[in-house]
Amino acid sequence: MTAVAEIMDYDEVLDRFDPVLGLEVHVELSTKTKMFCGCANEFGAEPNTQVCPVCLGLPGALPAVNGKAVEAAIRIGLALNCQVAEWCRFARKNYFYPDQPKNFQTSQYDEPIVFDGHLDVVLDDGETFRVDIERAHMEEDTGKSLHMGGATGRIHGADYSLLDYNRAGVPLIEIVTKPITGAGERAPEVARAYVTALRDLLRALNVSDVRMDQGSLRCDANVSLMPKGASEFGTRTETKNVNSLRSVERAVRYEMQRHAAVLTSGGSIVQETRHFDESTGSTSSGRPKETSEDYRYFPEPDLVPIAPSREWVEELSQTLPELPWERRRRAKEDWGLSDEELRDLVNAGALELIAETVEAGAAPGDARSWWVAYLSQQANTRGVELADLAITPKQVARVVALVGEGKLTNKLARQVVDGVLDGEGEPDEVVAARGFEVVSDDSELQKAVDEALAAQPDVADKIRGGKVQAAGAVVGSVMKATKGQADAKRVRELVLKACGQ
Ligand SMILES: [Zn+2]
Repeated sequence: MTAVAEIMDYDEVLDRFDPVLGLEVHVELSTKTKMFCGCANEFGAEPNTQVCPVCLGLPGALPAVNGKAVEAAIRIGLALNCQVAEWCRFARKNYFYPDQPKNFQTSQYDEPIVFDGHLDVVLDDGETFRVDIERAHMEEDTGKSLHMGGATGRIHGADYSLLDYNRAGVPLIEIVTKPITGAGERAPEVARAYVTALRDLLRALNVSDVRMDQGSLRCDANVSLMPKGASEFGTRTETKNVNSLRSVERAVRYEMQRHAAVLTSGGSIVQETRHFDESTGSTSSGRPKETSEDYRYFPEPDLVPIAPSREWVEELSQTLPELPWERRRRAKEDWGLSDEELRDLVNAGALELIAETVEAGAAPGDARSWWVAYLSQQANTRGVELADLAITPKQVARVVALVGEGKLTNKLARQVVDGVLDGEGEPDEVVAARGFEVVSDDSELQKAVDEALAAQPDVADKIRGGKVQAAGAVVGSVMKATKGQADAKRVRELVLKACGQ
């Protein structure tokens, strides 16, 4: 029965069932070091170069908690309106998997550091939906298995597997919602909006780089259906590691349609993990879902309990940055946006980016124009979210400044942005490497102007005779001769001056 399941028409699903969601988001913290040792926490290093006896789980190695990770967990909890535990412990979650060298994961079980919060998320039409947060707890990431030789990168069909333990022990916060009910047809949208809001929040807190494409933000989506009018939840499936916002929405929708088809044809849902396939938009069966008993949790004997003082928690709550929803309200007022304009910017994932670009010194109009026009277009072409483009608000602000200083034309500025997106370095480095400095040296420009006038004597005569609109043709050839690196306004002035106008 786990063969390719039929799916039910979405409207019919909603006629018969109410969906229940549960979202688990793992976020990798961007602390300098790992959770329990001093190894560097950096993405993309050579495999197995950031490891030590602690994160490799060698006998006798003793862990110590990273205080910055605890601080980040508390700040996340406070921003999610959670209570902060006065005392909590780590626990061992026992399981064997080759990417977990200790044979257990140090996590938290029944004593999470923060619990009982909520996050209000804004849906596409501007309505707010409250998602209750069950808990957020600290744990460590596993290593990474690379399955070689198979077609899909999955273990199935692979010839052999390689293990990289650089990620083993990287600090993770897992944020778990309470069951989300009452979303009805909007369940897939609520799921996407929640992960989006959480991502924006985590970015504002500056605790993670929240890159879904690099796995620093990962979402597991639990979905179950209950027949209309029922009060007991159905059996759920957990679609693992969905790695884009759009996929979160698609995966939830697909699972709702698949569950409905199975249930109405008399079958039953197997509690299991599922994989989402980006290319087909469908899910496939993973492994049977373990229950907590299978993990034989027990308190971690090698770590002392965590007891954050109330003074410290109070201090951290005083230093929370402006949160995304507050920033939205302020942006709307400061930039004079209509409700609709604000919503469009939020939906495009552009608002925070624009705000950060403004903070880095750009004028709001310039910042907005870059993100909603050229960069949105680039994100589309490259098939990534706007926020996942390889350019930072600070870099965009630098490009805006270069244009403002007359060092770049708009056309060149776009090419500089392309260079940054292609990994050629900072804007100034791209300008230098591509030889993009605007020709602002008047003597050099004058030479180009004189040559252009000499090459078009009839046009030059017309301008001398008072037909100043003919100057356009000369400006055009100067721009061509300087490969677009001249300031067109200045060229025009020089052309007119040369012709006595
Ligand atoms: Zn280590």
